[in-house]
Amino acid sequence: MSQSLPATLPKVKIFPRGASRLKDGHIWVYRSDIVSADGASPGSLVTVVDSRGKPLGTALYSSASQIAIRLISHDAVDDFPPLIRQRIADAIAYRQPLVHDTDAYRVIFSEGDLLPGLIVDRYNDMLSVQVLTQAMDSDPVRQAFMAELTGQLHPASIVERVDPRVRELENLPPRLSSLLQGEKTATVVTMNGVRFNHQALEGQKTGAFLDQRENYAAAAQYAHGEALDVFCYHGGFALHLASHCTGVTAVDSSRPALEVADRNAALNQREVEWIEANAFDLLKDYAVSGQRYDTIVLDPPAFAKSKRDLDAAMRGYKELNLRALKMLRPGGILVTCSCSFHVSQALFLEMLAESARDAHRTLRLVEVRGQAKDHPILLNIPETAYLKCVIVSVTA
Ligand code: SAH
Repeated sequence: MSQSLPATLPKVKIFPRGASRLKDGHIWVYRSDIVSADGASPGSLVTVVDSRGKPLGTALYSSASQIAIRLISHDAVDDFPPLIRQRIADAIAYRQPLVHDTDAYRVIFSEGDLLPGLIVDRYNDMLSVQVLTQAMDSDPVRQAFMAELTGQLHPASIVERVDPRVRELENLPPRLSSLLQGEKTATVVTMNGVRFNHQALEGQKTGAFLDQRENYAAAAQYAHGEALDVFCYHGGFALHLASHCTGVTAVDSSRPALEVADRNAALNQREVEWIEANAFDLLKDYAVSGQRYDTIVLDPPAFAKSKRDLDAAMRGYKELNLRALKMLRPGGILVTCSCSFHVSQALFLEMLAESARDAHRTLRLVEVRGQAKDHPILLNIPETAYLKCVIVSVTA
């Protein structure tokens, strides 16, 4: 830490294991690696010191989360709001050359933009905000990010999407999803030329799976013949495939999601057959009845929410991929995804290789992809890389 420290910040002392984590370039320190946090209040800015008292940087403190410390700088920071404003401006500038063909993208990706605990998505002229930590929930911090987002992007409205479980884990008072600014709650967004209805206060996440946006375009490039989109939600993949395929069938267990998907099909004047079903049951039935496809997309929800779920999750991925591979015609394309951080890319590819072996199919690896570039990955923070999207071709 190069600059002198403001005397006012409380000090949090950490064990060597936490200190070496920070030296490796991570920004988290777990509660079990904290020696003392005297005077650190929930969400406060603190100075992190090692066991000998040497300063390591400035961090945001959580009194409730297992992640007690999120480092925001290796230097002294005595006031967080100006730094937030600078980082928001940086995040917006970073995306300018990277984000194309869309008016819906992630503006702020928490750790990936050195703003741990803050997520902001843009949907055309509306912004959707998620606050995930005590520090980001404080009034001065909220005022700072609202002012900077408004000044930079001039949105017609800003909504906040609340995950009640996150607030509970962070020991924050309950709060409802709501409009923070403006009145608009619905719009239409266009990704890669495909249009989607967006309702700011409905749907999963902040309404869409923006992390798949570049993968929609990639999948469309290879898609042909008859296509099946499994776990289709609002039809992100299905609608991108529709202009390249002779027919598209899409499956999801959520009726509200399929209703939006159907409205999206109409918006784009595309025909898709939407089926409300449990994907596991449906794939089993289709496999038994000898149904065949030329293109299949698998984009299930995260099966491994924690490390404990890993074995069960891998069995789930294997079952889906095995069935899909058996159903593909020669020359067919499989686009297979996992958004579980705990399932590494290597493990996912291994599962796919095993599925190919068991299905007696030979696969060519067409592309190994990840999350869209507006969800930046920090190389020293593995948790920022979570999405896998692998495209393979079945040999004739
Ligand atoms: N491919 C989508 C995102 C999929 S998210 C996109 O790009 O937008 C995962 C989806 O799986 C959700 O829509 C959820 O409703 C659905 N889902 C979860 N469990 C399911 C199951 N067992 N069968 C079918 N759909 C399921």
